[in-house]
Amino acid sequence: MSADMNEPRIPSWLWRIVLKSSTDNIGERGTRTVLRRSGLEHYSGVTPKDDDTPSVSVNEFSQYIQALFDIFGENGARSILLRAGKIGFTFAYDRMPPTIKVASKMLRILPEKKRLVTVVSEFSKAFNETLSTVGSVTEEEGKVVVEIPDCPYCRGFSTETPACYVEIGLLSQLIEAALGSGYTVKETKCVATGDPVCRFEIEKSHG
Ligand SMILES: [Zn+2]
Repeated sequence: MSADMNEPRIPSWLWRIVLKSSTDNIGERGTRTVLRRSGLEHYSGVTPKDDDTPSVSVNEFSQYIQALFDIFGENGARSILLRAGKIGFTFAYDRMPPTIKVASKMLRILPEKKRLVTVVSEFSKAFNETLSTVGSVTEEEGKVVVEIPDCPYCRGFSTETPACYVEIGLLSQLIEAALGSGYTVKETKCVATGDPVCRFEIEKSHG
C-alpha cells in the first residue's frame, strides 16, 4: 500500500474507536482478519493514539470498512460502525467548538428547529475541518439535510443500501445530546450506492 501523504487522514482517536468497537463486536481475531483483508495488517494488535494525530488515510479507512462489509455482511458492519459513531461522538464532543455546547445548553429560548439547525451546522463545520470534506447543511420541508459529496467513509466501495453508519451514529448522538430523543437520522442517498452525495435527513420522529 503506497500512501500519498497529502491525502486526507483519519484522526488517530477515531481510528482507535473504530478498531476498539470492531474488537468489541468481532473479537481480536475478527479484527485481525479485516485488517489483513484491507492491507492494514500493520495495525494488528496496535492501539492508535488517543489524539488528533493523523492515522490511516481516508482510502485505507474505506478499504477497512469495505472489508467489514465483505466479511461480516451489512448487519455485522452496521452494528460495529453505529457503535463507533456513537462512542466517537461522545469523545469528539469535548473537542467541538463551544458554539455546539452553547447551542445545546444555553440557547433553550430558541425554537427547537433553530437549535437543531445550529448544532448540526456547527457539527458539520467541525466534521469538514477534521476530515477535509465539503459537506453542507440545508433545510428542506421541515427536515434538516446534511449532504457530503466526498464522504470519507464510503468513497471507494459499493453497497446495495446506504452504508454510512459512522455518520448516522455521530449525528444521532449529537442530536440526542443537544435536543434529547425524538429525532430520526436517515441516510437517503449514499455514494456507496452510486449517488453523487451521501445525504442524511434529520426530522422529528412521529408517534
Ligand atoms: Zn454514504
